[in-house]
Amino acid sequence: MHGPGTRCSDLALSLVDASVVATAERLGQDTITTLDRRHSPWCARSTSTRSCSSPDRAAHRGRTLRAVETSLPVADRPRRPEWMKVRAPSPDGRYFDVKKLIHGASLNTVCEEARCPNIAECWGKGTATFQILGDTCTRACRYCYVNSGKPEGAPDPLEPLRLAQAAAQMGLKHVVVTSVDRDDVEDRGAGQFAAVTRALKAKLPGCSVELLTPDFLGDEERALATVLEARPEVFSHNIETVRRLHRRMRGAKASYDGALWLLRRAKEVADYPVLTKTGLIAGLGETNDEMVETMRELRAVGVDVVTIGQYLQPSSRHVEIDRWVHPDEFRWLREQGEALGFGSVFAGPLVRSSYRADEQKHAADTGLGVVAY
Ligand code: SF4
Repeated sequence: MHGPGTRCSDLALSLVDASVVATAERLGQDTITTLDRRHSPWCARSTSTRSCSSPDRAAHRGRTLRAVETSLPVADRPRRPEWMKVRAPSPDGRYFDVKKLIHGASLNTVCEEARCPNIAECWGKGTATFQILGDTCTRACRYCYVNSGKPEGAPDPLEPLRLAQAAAQMGLKHVVVTSVDRDDVEDRGAGQFAAVTRALKAKLPGCSVELLTPDFLGDEERALATVLEARPEVFSHNIETVRRLHRRMRGAKASYDGALWLLRRAKEVADYPVLTKTGLIAGLGETNDEMVETMRELRAVGVDVVTIGQYLQPSSRHVEIDRWVHPDEFRWLREQGEALGFGSVFAGPLVRSSYRADEQKHAADTGLGVVAY
């Protein structure tokens, strides 16, 4: 549910940050090479391994910043490109303190459960995203590493207090909370989201709370009322992928239009100016045009913040990566989203829905853009 899947071995890669320096240096070249027409964000007439013609380039210059590289089908580049490599945890940061604290409080994080590639960076800076309602999800999305099955037991009534205590000890000013899907629970987990929000606001009066929720299938209206009564500053629900792929990736229970409805209805139900947010995964087989179309539909329902990041296949049981989206394309997607009017579009290879969430919120609040790298 949370976003692009990852492999455990990521963390063994002791390498550089998602790097775009080389890309930036390449900007301004005249030749625009595309490997696959389907994946070209702005050269509609480009064909495989050919360059755009001059009239095409001239037209594109007027539309956007010039991109010089586009997606690589994974078949052409099975190894992870340099911009996907991440650091290993450093003993100098707060990584091990965060780990000890979270494990000691018997809390789950999506950082670990989804094997997020950013864990060394985020935990090293003392942040994490809490995953409530257990470690077992009642759905089985084809890209997600979180354990799926039949959850054991009702929501833990003490979890909100432990979570608030841990957030206080970490000194968080913006707390992101998500959950597994709990279709087995009568209120779909809405009451636990509300209880966590209230506990956080009681323990950390100055903090802002961001809730990344499931779709509350079958109890949406009541669940939204319950959750928003606790007044989280950010209400987030990930649409995950484009309309054409949604059912294939998320299964029959989830609904693309249902996700749009939930995001629209959250604004209507809240009696305060809640910020709404969603996330998209790139590399599942979608085209860039479809990504832009999805962003257009998200804007039409008033979504304020969107994140876009590269899918990583978490295991051989999960859907294969379709393409490595080039950093230039992420930049192009950000520009398209900004032109559509989002308060913040956070797009980059390693972006995840909760990645640098405090900065995303600040960007949307202030109208000051934030870039992923
Ligand atoms: S991006 Fe989100 S899920 Fe990943 S490590 Fe950072 S806080 Fe955790």
